[in-house]
Amino acid sequence: MVKQEATLTFYGGVNEIGGNKILVKDGDTKVFFDFGMSFAMRKLFYSPPFLSPKTGKSLQEFGILPQLDGVYKFDEKPPQIDAIFVSHGHLDHSAYLSFIKREIPTYCGETTCTILRAQSEIRRADLEFNIEGLTFKTFRTGKKIRLGNLEIEPVHVDHSIPGAYGFVIHTSKGSIVYTGDFRHHGAKLEMTDDFVEKAREADPVAIVTEATNMTGATVSSEAEVEEKLDSIVNQSDGIVLAEFAHGDVDRFNSFYRVAKKNHRCLAISLKQAYLLNALRGDRGLNIPNLNDKDILIFRKSKSTQYKWEEQLENQCPNQVKNAFELSKQQCKVVLAMSFYDLEELVELQPQAGSCYVLSASEPFNEEMEIDYGRLINWLQHYGLAQYHVHVSGHIMPLQLKSILKEINPARIFPVHTENAELFRKFMRDLRGKVICTEKAKEYKM
Ligand SMILES: [Zn+2]
Ligand SMILES: [Zn+2]
Repeated sequence: MVKQEATLTFYGGVNEIGGNKILVKDGDTKVFFDFGMSFAMRKLFYSPPFLSPKTGKSLQEFGILPQLDGVYKFDEKPPQIDAIFVSHGHLDHSAYLSFIKREIPTYCGETTCTILRAQSEIRRADLEFNIEGLTFKTFRTGKKIRLGNLEIEPVHVDHSIPGAYGFVIHTSKGSIVYTGDFRHHGAKLEMTDDFVEKAREADPVAIVTEATNMTGATVSSEAEVEEKLDSIVNQSDGIVLAEFAHGDVDRFNSFYRVAKKNHRCLAISLKQAYLLNALRGDRGLNIPNLNDKDILIFRKSKSTQYKWEEQLENQCPNQVKNAFELSKQQCKVVLAMSFYDLEELVELQPQAGSCYVLSASEPFNEEMEIDYGRLINWLQHYGLAQYHVHVSGHIMPLQLKSILKEINPARIFPVHTENAELFRKFMRDLRGKVICTEKAKEYKM
């Protein structure tokens, strides 16, 4: 007979942004919340594609994958956890599902399931992202899932990828709230309000909160981003090149509306088109049809063509354009492209009056700085002025403080941050005690 005791253990997301792996135990019920890839730890040892981990055991060797029994598919022991709940589809929360025993069920939002499946179809399965054989059980807000001693209530939150959830976890020792990644300045901030309301009602004994933006915080919104994009596209005489995350549907919609308003088409990559097409069935998302006259699909020049690419091209034959075709209608196009598409500029030859909009985070580590330097060289070569128009996917400090005050938990565990100590001091006048989490330590409720 297991002693009835509820505990929280953090196997990732401690002193790092992402890599969340949070274990909630209640008696003999054990559930993980998120099982993400730790980009920070991984880059200490690896530099893909030439220096990549070969097995899950290699990742365990360096603590990139935690030492756990009965969890991984490469371990012979019977399953020792009941389920994994995934808050959203970003890889720092979901990628290491790859290693989970296939008989352990994965619970996630319907949208997250669509995103993970689409991602797995458009990229070759590799060691660190392989969802084949996983058993997905999906939920939407309003559903309550009972697992042993736990009852888990997912509630939608606003984030920079659709289908993000926070959780209210009812244990035998009171409720634990987990925010996942969230914000209160996006296109659907009322979803975050719903979450805060549910969390407050639960009168939690603990909250596990993301605390990404303790430095470099800004005051802006997705609506303001759209206004700024409109002003840039409106003034530009040439092609507008735009870099933004292809899973960020709100940002896509901002660009789509701005392009349309300025009598341009938004050209997106085949990968983004495939993902958006998969998400079109989602009632909450309002994604235009790929055959929409204001959308084009950009085909990069390359020798191999995958089956999914061919199918997509057959589905919208009039929409697909290559760099040469786009070069003939530059002032009619906003082209979504990434750093890895820069080679296409050689064929495209941006004309005078073109510019480049970085609609993603600025570089925040050494590797990104190096690539950023390369990007600037390309922009200099083609005379492309660069704008930075972005808003974070994460909550800002004062908003977070006011939310924590409202939810009023007894204890606060910051995760997904490099600034836990700063967070602790900043939140020191709240009723709840802030605990700077330590990895693999068990906290009793
Ligand atoms: Zn994250
Ligand atoms: Zn995220």
